[in-house]
Amino acid sequence: MGSMFLFSPFSIFDGKYSDEKLDELIRYNPDKYAGPRKDADIAIPQAKISYNPVNQKIIDYRLNCATNVSIPAKYRKEKMLCQNIYATSAEELKALAEKEKPARIVLYGQNVIYNCPAFSQKNITDLIEGCFLSGRFLDNVQLPKMAQILGFQLPKEYLYVHFDENGDEITRFCNLKDKTEEAAACFNNRKEIHLPLGNSFDDKFYPQGAPVYNGGTKGRSDERVAYSFNLVFPRGCYTTIHASHEVMHYLDYVNHGKAPAWFKESMVTLISNRMTDAICSPGYEFKNVVKIEDGRVEPVKDFNHNSEEYRLFELYKYWKDDACHKAFIITVNDLLNAQGMPYLPRLYSALAQKSAASQGQEISTKDLTRAVVESSGNNPEVKKFMVNQSKCPY
Ligand SMILES: [Zn+2]
Repeated sequence: MGSMFLFSPFSIFDGKYSDEKLDELIRYNPDKYAGPRKDADIAIPQAKISYNPVNQKIIDYRLNCATNVSIPAKYRKEKMLCQNIYATSAEELKALAEKEKPARIVLYGQNVIYNCPAFSQKNITDLIEGCFLSGRFLDNVQLPKMAQILGFQLPKEYLYVHFDENGDEITRFCNLKDKTEEAAACFNNRKEIHLPLGNSFDDKFYPQGAPVYNGGTKGRSDERVAYSFNLVFPRGCYTTIHASHEVMHYLDYVNHGKAPAWFKESMVTLISNRMTDAICSPGYEFKNVVKIEDGRVEPVKDFNHNSEEYRLFELYKYWKDDACHKAFIITVNDLLNAQGMPYLPRLYSALAQKSAASQGQEISTKDLTRAVVESSGNNPEVKKFMVNQSKCPY
């Protein structure tokens, strides 16, 4: 093994990996395979976050969780500690939970109803504090800021966010028809999000810990390629990859309603990471990136998660060999890289117009193509690439 391999024990695997081995490599044991994770060596910046002022009317508002229809009926039967997030604190919630022993802690604000378990079988250092900090962040910072970047108003109804102890409930709730998508978290068209408890309230996430995650992406399984890395979040950025992804689905749905799965997933994946960077400036960083390919593990220098190569790799399962879908991903990614976030209102207003015309039906590929071409300012090169070269209907 030459000196270009910085990390040691790879020679025990030769040839191709099984799916299980890839999972283990990228997800369960990155410390071992992606090099030692030295939190102390990683400089963790502080996020520049500004919370919006909240008026007295919002603070004084009291919601009855037992009867509110934004909370699905099956969850309303549980014993809830139901609190206005702007009229309480993590300390007060902990004291109340100790006294009242509820099954769930339900927090509401201006935009969100946030339903967390009061106790967990998992080893979570501070579940209630995590619930309070991330709930307030979503309600006050993340959702309003994301809607503002996209250029539209948030709906008046609440977004319902539910945390599940285990993946079974998420899988059941998500009711996924397309089994290529893993039910780690989901959004449905009833404006509900389900999120996994574990990695949302992991103690690494909060200020007393180090906000470093182990992450990875598995690509086209026939090629046995994967990336593994450490993700460094700035301190004070109380969101996760899963939460940002599902919130982006919600805003996507609010803006243009039903769309084909490949399009929804591609859009959300192209946008949600950039959103997290914009909200939690200076954004998150990929460290210790390695590419695992054909039984070899190599460090990747100058990794760019917004590059066309990585995006096509990450989204392969959605474009597969469809030239038109691939053209969408490349075009939207290019326009985002060239114009930055100001591109998004152009795209979202074009999509909203097409969806208004489709009257509750799933938006057609022809309309999606037209919206992307319009969002480019009717750039003839974009039209040529999508329509003539990539055979998108127009
Ligand atoms: Zn998704």
